[in-house]
Amino acid sequence: MGTALIQQILPDEYANMTDEEADERIRLADTLLGDRLVILGHHYQVDEIIKFADYTGDSFKLSQESAARTDAEFVVFCGVHFMAESADILGGEHQHVILPNLTAGCSMADMVNLEQVGDLWDTLEEVTDARCVPVTYMNSSAAIKAFCGEYDGSVCTSSNCAKVFEWALTQGDKIIFFPDEHLGRNTALAMGFSEDDLMVWNPLIPPEDNDLEKLKRCKFILWKGWCSVHGRFSVEQIELARRDFPDITVIVHPECRHEVVAKADGFGSTAYIVKRVNEAAPGTAWAIGTEINLVSRLAKQHPDKTIFCLDPIVCPCSTMYRIQPQYLAWALENLLQGNIVNEIKVPEREKQFARKALDRMLSLAS
Ligand code: SF4
Repeated sequence: MGTALIQQILPDEYANMTDEEADERIRLADTLLGDRLVILGHHYQVDEIIKFADYTGDSFKLSQESAARTDAEFVVFCGVHFMAESADILGGEHQHVILPNLTAGCSMADMVNLEQVGDLWDTLEEVTDARCVPVTYMNSSAAIKAFCGEYDGSVCTSSNCAKVFEWALTQGDKIIFFPDEHLGRNTALAMGFSEDDLMVWNPLIPPEDNDLEKLKRCKFILWKGWCSVHGRFSVEQIELARRDFPDITVIVHPECRHEVVAKADGFGSTAYIVKRVNEAAPGTAWAIGTEINLVSRLAKQHPDKTIFCLDPIVCPCSTMYRIQPQYLAWALENLLQGNIVNEIKVPEREKQFARKALDRMLSLAS
């Protein structure tokens, strides 16, 4: 782990700041820092933050954008911790990556650590000679990405997961997939594999209590991790949406449970969801199974279409929500004064191996 996750208490001046004052001060700092600064805003950020973003997108697209902005000395990532780590891994030596609030983590990325991975790796060595290729979702720590790089695996995103799986199966007998069970299952089943080819590894029970027979014969070992936001969507919600809007199209993110994905009209990454809605004809209706800030923004951008979140009880990503304008104002004004606060720095060795796993994914995409 490269960075201590300790967020200092915001000075009163910022903690008590109104949103209007924070806006003014962010705007001024942004202007004064000019090309030295790039602000990245993940799709799931609140509108109060997104309006300041030079680039918006998913975590991988944003890391690429910041790496391409070689003139920018400061990359302020309005997202969560693993995203800022990826920006540091892909960024230039001279770039400083800043996460405005260090408590903005990702509960799914936190569901796997190296010690637990070591238990699985040791168990595999005991029970099988099969060559196992580790693949990790972008939503994981730099340490897990580095593990995949060190053991000749790859990173993947929700857009290119199938492509990476296809490649991995040419390199070995089994894939170990971290940390999202559902993305792994949805992708493998869409590729034509069956439940019998999959096994879920539970890191929270002793290794020997997992199904070791299945571990020997399966093709995919799926880490038992999940996204608490996407885990809320259900088949009942889809049925309700279809009852109220018979012509509705339901699209969901592949972090949703398989029964939900199977019932939807389509599934794909946030980029896929945005594209489908952008290209849809006026008058069409869309029920979307992903984070509420993205869905609300799409609804605002397309007043000629009916767009709503599948979950009627709002489901924001609570950690993404921790980036508030007051934190952004604090981080930017510190930069103006020459203080780099909340810098995310991945240790060099970890960076090299994580970069290897990310480069593998990029080479497969090209
Ligand atoms: S929406 Fe889910 S996967 Fe994405 S950052 Fe939040 S907890 Fe993590």
